[in-house]
Amino acid sequence: MSAKIISGTEVAKEIRAELKAEVAELAAKHKVVPGLVTILVGEDPASQSYVAAKNKTAKELGIHSEQVTLPADTSEAELLALVEKCNNDPKIHGILVQLPLPKQINEAKVLNAISPDKDVDGFHPVNVGRMVLGEKCFLPCTPHGVLELLQRSGVKTDGAEVVVVGRSNIVGKPVANLMLQKRAGGNATVTLCHTRTKDMDFHTKRADILIVAAGVANMIKADQVKEGVVVIDVGVNRVGMTESGKAKLAGDVEFDSVKEKAAAITPVPGGVGPMTITMLMKNTVQSAKQFAGLA
Ligand code: NAP
Repeated sequence: MSAKIISGTEVAKEIRAELKAEVAELAAKHKVVPGLVTILVGEDPASQSYVAAKNKTAKELGIHSEQVTLPADTSEAELLALVEKCNNDPKIHGILVQLPLPKQINEAKVLNAISPDKDVDGFHPVNVGRMVLGEKCFLPCTPHGVLELLQRSGVKTDGAEVVVVGRSNIVGKPVANLMLQKRAGGNATVTLCHTRTKDMDFHTKRADILIVAAGVANMIKADQVKEGVVVIDVGVNRVGMTESGKAKLAGDVEFDSVKEKAAAITPVPGGVGPMTITMLMKNTVQSAKQFAGLA
């Protein structure tokens, strides 16, 4: 069997079209224009390209976007002052501080300073707490993207054995949490694996849905999964250069061999990646609606 390819590029395109229509309607009917600010400290090339992609997508959807770039030696106090200014700016509904931050700045302190009402990355402890409790909140973008990919591809999670590899605060823990919530798209039996897991193959082999976010290129091989598994590969690993000089990417799953056993699988690139930015836009639109009393 060769797997169905779950294209994040296609699903993201579908959601972006919906968002674009929603943004146009908000402007026409309610004079509301969602606004996103991205804050980048320093000149890390990967961060620069992530921020550029976020602003480009925002513009394409009709979202007002502002990009603030600060020098690498910016102090924590200066960054906190900027966050506070954005918290009070009525044109801005979403604040994104690109991580990682330079070492003189305490990341947690900055993320906690963002108003939970504008925390479109979903990293603020208030939003994390609401997510765990199953309350309305901004869901973190990558886990939310995984959820949407599964739902829009018709993958049933109800009663499924979901195995997540990786327990980071931005992917592994929240995605595991979303899968066990008592609602559509959740209701799974969830196992979370990490570097101290004793027998990882035991767990991965019984997964109906395997979600891998470890950051280790091609770590999951075909002999570690069962026939008919649905695989969501969150990993993005640079494994060399293409002939045109671009970074060559690989996921955490050995795509070519695992796709022969899986029922469905996401590719890298073109899987979870495009969904992450799309969910950031969805959260920004949601925030604008909430501020306008429309949601
Ligand atoms: P992270 O913070 O480094 O966490 C990696 C997790 O994987 C840790 O919990 C670690 O366990 C676990 N792990 C690592 N090696 C393992 C192994 N050999 N066996 C079992 N568990 C192992 O990484 P992250 O931020 O969650 O990101 C994970 C991957 O997703 C990266 O490739 C990243 O680039 C990618 N990513 C993609 C997107 C996207 O939009 N597509 C977004 C975010 C991240 P311990 O806790 O025990 O150390």
